[in-house]
Amino acid sequence: MSAYDAEAIIVGRGLVGVAAAIAVAKAGLKTIHLAPAGPPDRRTSALMMPSVDYLVAAGLIDDPADIGHPLTQIRIIDATGRLIRAPETLFDAQEAGLTAFGWNFANARLLERFHGVAATLDGLEIRNTGATGFTADDIGGTLTLADGGTLSAPLIVGADGKSSLIRSAAGFPIHEHQFEQAALVCDLDLGRPIGGTSIEFHYPNGPFTPVPAGDKRANLGLDR
Ligand SMILES: Cc1cc2nc3c(=O)[nH]c(=O)nc-3n(C[C@H](O)[C@H](O)[C@H](O)COP(=O)(O)OP(=O)(O)OC[C@H]3O[C@@H](n4cnc5c(N)ncnc54)[C@H](O)[C@@H]3O)c2cc1C
Repeated sequence: MSAYDAEAIIVGRGLVGVAAAIAVAKAGLKTIHLAPAGPPDRRTSALMMPSVDYLVAAGLIDDPADIGHPLTQIRIIDATGRLIRAPETLFDAQEAGLTAFGWNFANARLLERFHGVAATLDGLEIRNTGATGFTADDIGGTLTLADGGTLSAPLIVGADGKSSLIRSAAGFPIHEHQFEQAALVCDLDLGRPIGGTSIEFHYPNGPFTPVPAGDKRANLGLDR
């Protein structure tokens, strides 16, 4: 341990990075979290129950109802306009003995909770700087930092998003696919409440899915 700056270094301040930093620090490892400031995360995440159960069990959130909206039903609509279409289907969580299939959270609300937990952990040091390079060796790895420093640890966790520098520098192969599609996400104010029903319209070129965000609000995901 003496040759290292920490037992674990987590790179990235998104949901995965903060959750990983907390999990590793709670496991008793001296942890540094590289969490450079960035724009607010305006996304929402519809998380199925196994993920929500993990967040509760890990002490990252208490009652999901405090910050999220339950997904109690999923309505699937074949909106292709084809001559023969699939019948409209409504899945109800109660039929599966569940109170909800999952919960819809604003990422910012989750992060707020995670940061509250992180602040209570003595073994977790949070630094407002990013990684600019990574070199792996047989017993761990070394990071170069945006502030000009270096850090090394036996465990480095790359939670630096879909274009991960850590993943690429570590040589993990990936397969990327380019789709001729664009995605639009936004928040909707609706004319009437949709309760806990996630409504999936499946058009020929992709889905249009208002996800319940409480009362007369929904978060929309649209792929085209
Ligand atoms: C519009 C949209 C809707 C989504 N909806 C859902 C959903 O309903 N349910 C669901 O499960 N998932 C959903 N997802 C996917 C989910 O949001 C992401 O998979 C998840 O948030 C990724 O989290 P992350 O922490 O891995 O990455 P990110 O949130 O991308 O965070 C990566 C972080 O790493 C930081 N970083 C990058 N490079 C460096 C570096 N070199 N050094 C230090 N830090 C660095 C970035 O600044 C960023 O803060 C959605 C995604 C989008 C875009």
